Amino acid sequence: MIQVSYKSTHIPSLNHPHPHSHSNSQSRPFHRRTLLYKTPFPPTISLVLRNLSTPSTPTTPRRTKTRASIPREVEGKGVLLIPTHCSSSSSSWFHYFVLWKKMVLIDQHVLWTFFASLLGFVLLYTLRRNSSKRTIKKNFPEECAEESFADRECRPVNGSGTDVIIVGAGVAGSALAYTLGKDGRRVCLIERDLTEPDRIVGELLQPGGYLKLIELGLEDCVEEIDAQRVLGYALFKDGKSAKLSYPLEKFNSDVAGRSFHNGRFIQRMREKAATLPSVKLEQGTVTSLLEENGTVRGVQYKSKDGQEHKAYAPLTIVCDGCFSNLRRTLCNPKVDVPSCFVGLVLENCQLPFENHGHVILADPSPILFYPISSTEVRCLVDVPGQKLPSVANGEMANYLKTVVGPQIPPELHDAFISAVDKGNIRTMPNRSMPADPHPTPGAVLMGDAFNMRHPLTGGGMTVALSDIVVLRDLLKPLHDLNDAPSLSKYLESFYTLRKPVASTINTLAGALYKVFSASPDQARKEMRQACFDYLSLGGSCSTGPVALLSGLNPRPLSLVLHFFAVAMYGVGRLLLPFPSPKRMWIGARLISSASGIIFPIIKAEGVRQMFFPATVPAYHRARAPPVKCNLQKDVASKDQEA
Ligand SMILES: Cc1cc2nc3c(=O)[nH]c(=O)nc-3n(C[C@H](O)[C@H](O)[C@H](O)COP(=O)(O)OP(=O)(O)OC[C@H]3O[C@@H](n4cnc5c(N)ncnc54)[C@H](O)[C@@H]3O)c2cc1C
Repeated sequence: MIQVSYKSTHIPSLNHPHPHSHSNSQSRPFHRRTLLYKTPFPPTISLVLRNLSTPSTPTTPRRTKTRASIPREVEGKGVLLIPTHCSSSSSSWFHYFVLWKKMVLIDQHVLWTFFASLLGFVLLYTLRRNSSKRTIKKNFPEECAEESFADRECRPVNGSGTDVIIVGAGVAGSALAYTLGKDGRRVCLIERDLTEPDRIVGELLQPGGYLKLIELGLEDCVEEIDAQRVLGYALFKDGKSAKLSYPLEKFNSDVAGRSFHNGRFIQRMREKAATLPSVKLEQGTVTSLLEENGTVRGVQYKSKDGQEHKAYAPLTIVCDGCFSNLRRTLCNPKVDVPSCFVGLVLENCQLPFENHGHVILADPSPILFYPISSTEVRCLVDVPGQKLPSVANGEMANYLKTVVGPQIPPELHDAFISAVDKGNIRTMPNRSMPADPHPTPGAVLMGDAFNMRHPLTGGGMTVALSDIVVLRDLLKPLHDLNDAPSLSKYLESFYTLRKPVASTINTLAGALYKVFSASPDQARKEMRQACFDYLSLGGSCSTGPVALLSGLNPRPLSLVLHFFAVAMYGVGRLLLPFPSPKRMWIGARLISSASGIIFPIIKAEGVRQMFFPATVPAYHRARAPPVKCNLQKDVASKDQEA
């Protein structure tokens, strides 16, 4: 007999046979297992299997119970009955029926309790929602009480001075200064060096980042700098290549990735921010944060002429980049440096795939190429570890020519060797650091100072710009920012709201770097090959991961699914057509190594924030901006009226 029955914690209250009494259970085959367990768990499904051909009790008369003989009400009430060869006497049937009736009653009781709780929950939720809406409406002008924060805009109303100090006018700081300045905040932007940066970082902006640039009104900053459109990636492995296009069909024709000289892009954003009357751009090196009873009140900085200054504002936003000196008190910086990038500029060469980033799955680790102007191609060679061959004594040039050179696609080889000979070799450590803030009244961290990931996938600027959009939307409804503790509590929601985009890009960057790097381990080799072949399959196997990487589809769950789809694809190839014990073993290790790659990254990102953001209490603070930040407006307006 196969019986699937509904178990309920209420059942033991009936006068049932002892759970382990076999004689009892055998004489009442129907409710036997149903009443068997006394557990503290909610109702579950239990499955009882019994051999059809073997009578359950050879010594007792066999009873027959067919589906047709079961009362209608029994059917569909949590028990699935399958005809058995057992017979049943009328008395045991009656006993069974009475018991069953009681069970149905109990099941109904459980059901009603469930529905009553559900109703209560819905009522409570609706009431709470309405009351929080009322709070917002009470403290904000009508236009600020909209559901969508993006539509709200309230300008500062009282006093003079500065609303926000921003430290560092790089990608994050410049974009943020323009954004807040445009919203009417009085911003003081302090940058230690206002000349055009010349760096090998932040040169490819993913389409998701470009969309954020549009949202911030900064898209013209990639114009007039000879920026190149990027339409996707080309992957190379062992002489084979695969073209992976960004899924841009649904967007305007101008939406694509952009690659450029980082310095030109930053200068455009600095200029644009500085054109706003509410933004004051100053050259100076911030030496410390000014703290008072655990609240950051401003910064101390050295101006260009060497003089020490102090600047005060209700909010200080630290965007001093990957080498940040100021983040120490604002977060728990766990910086990892898995490798370094060695940068070269190739001239007079044609990329095999025009308007595409190129990723060579080389040994020991990947090599990147992408255009940074109409005549130049950036080459970034990843060198694992922190110790690099010396550039000064020629070891680096030798390494690039002998180890890297033979792995470069033939179309780029000569230009690569010329670039090495030219000698303009730059290096930069590749840092990764999960976001781990100490929410501090009066201060917020942004950009690389706050969160870093391996630059293989070019995601840093996209994360920074996406964070700016989140922060802007949170700050928009606030009239002034003077109540530092309440503001800090409210802004804790920022750390969860940013997660879908940031954690997807961060996790993918870390995982892909590991998968794309060569390894002597056979399981890792299989995973690397499986990843290349999976992405080469086309369709959703390539657009899915590329959409994640480009910031067009920031969904952590989709990332995990694709990652394990690659692993399963690798295992499937190992086991087909004939699995041998050795191949099965490699398959098992492949899964284990895939898990070993992705789970630690997810753990560092925060499982709850990444997959269940709504369960984080701070997430909901975004719906209830701090009242005091707005009451001050009421006080100010009352003062004015008086
Ligand atoms: C090798 C490499 C390649 C990369 N490639 C890409 C890519 O292709 N695409 C991508 O999206 N991301 C890339 N990134 C990441 C990207 O560069 C960063 O995410 C991005 O630049 C972060 O911007 P930020 O404003 O936080 O920092 P930055 O752009 O570094 O700006 C920090 C600014 O703060 C200023 N500053 C520092 N200290 C002080 C101080 N005490 N006082 C005043 N000013 C100060 C600095 O002068 C600087 O202007 C790459 C990173 C690396 C390492």
